[in-house]
Amino acid sequence: MKKLVFSIISCFLIMSCDMPVKKENSKEVENTIPADQKFGLVIHGGAGTILKKNMTDSLEKAYRLKLEEATKAGHKILADGGTSMEAVTAAINIMEDSPLFNAGKGAVFTHDGTNELDASVMDGKTLNAGAISGVTTVKNPIDLAVAVMDKSEHVMLSAKGAEQFAQEQGLEIVDPSYFYTERRFQSLQKIIDKEKTQLDHDDDKKVVFMDPYIKDSKFGTVGCAALDKYGNLAAGTSTGGMTNKRYNRIGDAPIIGSGTYANNATCAVSSTGWGEFFIRAQVAHDISAMMEYKGVTLQEAASEVIQKKVPALGGDGGIVAIDKDGNVAMEFNTAGMYRAHMNATGDLDIKIYKNN
Ligand code: ASP
Repeated sequence: MKKLVFSIISCFLIMSCDMPVKKENSKEVENTIPADQKFGLVIHGGAGTILKKNMTDSLEKAYRLKLEEATKAGHKILADGGTSMEAVTAAINIMEDSPLFNAGKGAVFTHDGTNELDASVMDGKTLNAGAISGVTTVKNPIDLAVAVMDKSEHVMLSAKGAEQFAQEQGLEIVDPSYFYTERRFQSLQKIIDKEKTQLDHDDDKKVVFMDPYIKDSKFGTVGCAALDKYGNLAAGTSTGGMTNKRYNRIGDAPIIGSGTYANNATCAVSSTGWGEFFIRAQVAHDISAMMEYKGVTLQEAASEVIQKKVPALGGDGGIVAIDKDGNVAMEFNTAGMYRAHMNATGDLDIKIYKNN
């Protein structure tokens, strides 16, 4: 009997030593990791009909190298003690300067053969934000969004006024021809040709106007969400919008709460996809709000919005996001999404298609 009591007590003691403190509350366990070891960033270069069969080896390599360069540049800033906003803008600048992505240099064409650029940023610590839309001469639209946030009393500026502000702030101004790339121009011609044939058979102008967007564009917007060593989150998004857009159409990318959102209490999000639906679903803020009000994880919130809410409306696309503990989500409902992530320990993860 004595032996039995002794074994039970020893067993109990051994088990209680192995038991982690507050095992039932995973968030508190995560929070024991010091803030300066949780930093990281996640980027996207657009979601859409990105299929291996349509990709050459050299083009795929070029995309992977550019994603790697942008991620590493942002990561270095974070590792050296820079802010999440600095990391976000550095990563986005690299993609804006590349013709591969639909932002800055590689922006898609409007119906009239011009390039109209949109961008936004948000600071999760202050909930301050900056956005611009419809600019045609600003080399790096994300820098202008930051200037609006930091140097003006406004949140959003558009078209000529935004360009005047860019000049006053000493940002780099380029001739609109800087944004000409043959690849994007040919995409516009294809869509216009298709539109003409469809118009012969279809009286519903609204359908004709929207249809070529999804079938023929690889969207290609760029964005980044980052968490720095000080526990501050930031997000940014930059785009040329959608090929063949007209009437000065503005998508979700410059809309705070749709294309971009950051809040230190929850997460930082950057969206890419069919902007009209992302505006109506308030994608970026919805993910944050679900975490804030319902206490769900970032991944649960991102799946709910991207796999259920957006498709239920008829839209498609994806998001990248990072939460206040450094957890990352890269969720999309299209064939692929250019995306990459790097955490505090320097593990780099780059993917284009569903699984690789
Ligand atoms: N969301 C962007 C827009 O609708 C397009 C994209 O993500 O590529 O303007």
